[in-house]
Amino acid sequence: MNVDIDVSAKIIDGKKTSLLIREWIKSEITKLKESYNFIPGLAVILVGDNPASQIYVKNKEKQSLESGMNSWKYILPADASEKNIIEQIIKLNKDSSVDGILVQLPLPKINTASERNIINAISPDKDVDGLSIINSGKLFSGENGLSPATPSGCILLLKEYCANLAGKKALVIGRSNLVGKPIANMLLRENCTVTMAHSKTKDLIEECRQADIIIAAIGIPNFIKGEWIKKDSIIIDVGINRVESIDSSKKQIVGDVNFNEAIKVCSAITPVPGGVGPMTIACLLVNTLIASCTRRNIEAPIINTNF
Ligand code: NAD
Repeated sequence: MNVDIDVSAKIIDGKKTSLLIREWIKSEITKLKESYNFIPGLAVILVGDNPASQIYVKNKEKQSLESGMNSWKYILPADASEKNIIEQIIKLNKDSSVDGILVQLPLPKINTASERNIINAISPDKDVDGLSIINSGKLFSGENGLSPATPSGCILLLKEYCANLAGKKALVIGRSNLVGKPIANMLLRENCTVTMAHSKTKDLIEECRQADIIIAAIGIPNFIKGEWIKKDSIIIDVGINRVESIDSSKKQIVGDVNFNEAIKVCSAITPVPGGVGPMTIACLLVNTLIASCTRRNIEAPIINTNF
């Protein structure tokens, strides 16, 4: 790496910001408890025993509890039927102590349930993953609703680095319902000029060269090269890819952007790990906090975007 570059000055530190957000949540929960005598609570449904999903669920549980929230976990067998999963969701929809419901996705390969039907069975006011058709529609039409956590985390990190995003050319690479599409909508809300690229995009390199902001949500390790990137652009790397380390001794996690190349050109970049990843759970907990207030007709606290 070029020794002239002050790497730390260019890093958008999601780990640090997520910690500050969780401290903020904790203090807001203390206030809610004192003023209204309730504690927000998140229920997570895990279908099967996929090790990666188990870790994600464990982290959500841990961070909920550390933030002062209630946390419940429901484990269903890998081959649980759609009916059984939806029955569990309906119970949680009716449970007044539960403010947020999340089904850990993806479902195991052997499971035949429709993820869409499952997500849409969650009451929209408890859909803290923001993926139901109602909350997606609200995001699309500019209404207030619960927005997906990973995209919300990306926007918070972007705004921390660049307070005014209006007029910036933003390129979103990846068009999934989970990441790419919601981020594009959120960037439009921030008055960016948004381009969406995907696997059928003709000249991705040229699109990258035009962009003031690149959001990479592709799922291919180190895919975006430094020479594709416009000087002084901002890079948000959503990718989480497990690859073998250089000496093949263990797995390591890398993003969709070649970090060592990109940091020489861009003005700021999220590292992987330690960038967007930690923001996802923090934003999920923010959604649970908001959902807990909205459902009780209490004015929800507004998150400060300048941590
Ligand atoms: P996905 O597989 O659903 O979507 C990938 C997208 O990349 C597709 O829309 C596809 O069109 C596009 N794509 C594939 N090849 C391409 C190419 N050659 N050129 C341009 N576009 C191409 O994945 P996803 O769920 O959106 O996740 C994307 C990445 O983000 C994955 O690495 C995933 O692990 C990661 N992710 C991270 C978090 C987090 O918390 N940080 C959360 C969700 C997903």
